[in-house]
Amino acid sequence: MTFSHAEFQTLAHGLTPTGQAFIDGAYRDALDDETFETTNPATGEILVNVAHCKLADVDRAVAAARRAFNEGSWSRAEPEHRKDVLLKVAALVREHTHELALLESLDTGKTITDCLHEIGTEVPNFFQWYAELIDKTFGKVAATGPSALGLVVQEPIGVAGAILPWNFPLLMAAFKIAPALASGCSAVVKPAEQTPLSTLRLAELIHQAGVPDGVLNVVPGFGHTAGQAIGLHGDIDTVSFTGSTEVGRMFLRYAGDSNLKAVGLELGGKSPFIVLDDAAINDELIDHAAMAAFWNGGQNCSANMRQLIAAPLVEEFTGRIVERVKSFKLGDPLDPATEIGSMITKDHKTMVMDYIQSGLDDGAKMVIGGNSDLPGFFIEPTVFQNVTPNMKIAREEIFGPVLGIMPVQSSEEALAVACDTEYGLHASVFTRDIDRAIHMARALPCGTVSVNGYSEGDIKTPFGGYKQSGSLARDMGIEALSQYMQTKTIWICS
Ligand code: NAD
Repeated sequence: MTFSHAEFQTLAHGLTPTGQAFIDGAYRDALDDETFETTNPATGEILVNVAHCKLADVDRAVAAARRAFNEGSWSRAEPEHRKDVLLKVAALVREHTHELALLESLDTGKTITDCLHEIGTEVPNFFQWYAELIDKTFGKVAATGPSALGLVVQEPIGVAGAILPWNFPLLMAAFKIAPALASGCSAVVKPAEQTPLSTLRLAELIHQAGVPDGVLNVVPGFGHTAGQAIGLHGDIDTVSFTGSTEVGRMFLRYAGDSNLKAVGLELGGKSPFIVLDDAAINDELIDHAAMAAFWNGGQNCSANMRQLIAAPLVEEFTGRIVERVKSFKLGDPLDPATEIGSMITKDHKTMVMDYIQSGLDDGAKMVIGGNSDLPGFFIEPTVFQNVTPNMKIAREEIFGPVLGIMPVQSSEEALAVACDTEYGLHASVFTRDIDRAIHMARALPCGTVSVNGYSEGDIKTPFGGYKQSGSLARDMGIEALSQYMQTKTIWICS
């Protein structure tokens, strides 16, 4: 069912979001009753006061998670039982898509259209996919002589922490919660302080589906309070973190300074979009280029913001991308026609505008955009031409709608420039030559390379970064389970 702009506005007025933490099967205030405000970045309106969880609340959540894990009603349940419950979670998310999408749109400034797609399709698919996977995983039997049986089994690791970013709140929650619960772990989840609302509502739906008390806990709070408490907690066995490379480093330190918990990191990026000289600059390529740069207002870890275009194609490419950008509709995220919503906060908008200024100062040519004189925290999609590899806008993750076009003289130069970064999350390559496509795909040091299309893959394929874009851990796919399971060898002697 689709609604009009006015209908979405009416539905939004009728929402009654909760800001309480979800601990041990119930909504609760922070133990010291402190709260913080969460606001709608598109309007500045305060949405609700949110429980400000700190160390004592995290302790309470971890104690509930550990008790539930040890009791075993979830961790040692038959896989078919966990499957049935997680399938109910998927069904409940589908049933509540509009409510969850509205919460997310109001809390993030993301467009309602994107929220509906992510929450109506991708989020429930995550729960369904891991539900269906978990009773089809098998251990191994080692090659032994006749006097022994060597079994290799996977067991849930215990209590999992999850730390979420603000750019795709419920999708990132599903990235972590679905494989953690499917594995039999208990979990303590901290949403980003800017965007706690959809994850808090999801916790209630997961409980309603039949996940026992204490198995899933959500503790809203700040990085230096709830986040640090999770990182340093001595009774959390693994943490899966998505966020900036800078904070990712802290989680490695937290683990070293506490109980050596496992740490899975999904971090930042500065991903290239490479168009080789045999590619056709057609509508499809331009749509992919625009999507790669401006989806979610560029607030996307795998945004392709360095667009390395074969020199003979630069003029045509630039003209076409500028035309595409002109057609983007910026505005009220609750209008289904809106394609680009708001930046997440005033500070974030200021930071992105500073990058735009640095592009101008460094001599890049702005061919469209740059305007921020709009109410709320909006920034027009911005395109720079004549960007060179040493400019700040070519090297640093901007996390906003600022695309840099860089001419390259050859595929070797494209590869060299693409690789010249500390990051390695994603790359796109456009060519009609299969040999060049294979060569580039293998040579690019990135967790995902997409050829002749911008894509991060889907639930079936692992997602994560090379170099400083992440650790060896992967979200999505069968590989995600390894963040939440550990390997035991059982050696049976006759
Ligand atoms: P961030 O690192 O500032 O915050 C992420 C989370 O970490 C938040 O929940 C925050 O509260 C918490 N945090 C912040 N400081 C902390 C501290 N000192 N101790 C413990 N926890 C702390 O990142 P962000 O601004 O929310 O998100 C943007 C970043 O996330 C970008 O760099 C982006 O590339 C990255 N990201 C990566 C992926 C991926 O899958 N690789 C996906 C989305 C976003």
